[in-house]
Amino acid sequence: METIFSKIINREIPADIVFEDDLCLAFRDVNPQAPTHILVIPKKPIAKLSDTEPQDQSLLGHLLLTATRVAKSEGIADSFRLVVNNGEGAGQTVFHLHVHILAGRQFSWPPG
Ligand code: AMP
Repeated sequence: METIFSKIINREIPADIVFEDDLCLAFRDVNPQAPTHILVIPKKPIAKLSDTEPQDQSLLGHLLLTATRVAKSEGIADSFRLVVNNGEGAGQTVFHLHVHILAGRQFSWPPG
């Protein structure tokens, strides 16, 4: 299914891309919720985490490794939060799997 994120992957709309490889893309969130707010997405069009299957194991690992790599390159590796909203009730608004990387402020727990 076509989403705003597949348009970013296909360069149909612009984004501030900070990392890209064969499997994924990382770019700055257009509406940042923290001083650093980056999204890591697979190029494979998976709508949400609960749609993944056992064959996606290495891709999912790659997304987390990429999030860590991006955190290091952004200088925030000491303290950052990863968020995956799965489904509308959890706050998901774009139905292309993405991992939020948030950093640069104090985070509370439990999350809102
Ligand atoms: P979620 O609510 O977990 O689905 O997160 C979707 C995120 O995508 C939100 O934080 C939005 O601000 C962000 N977003 C939506 N459109 C764009 C865009 N064109 N470029 C960058 N980030 C976007």
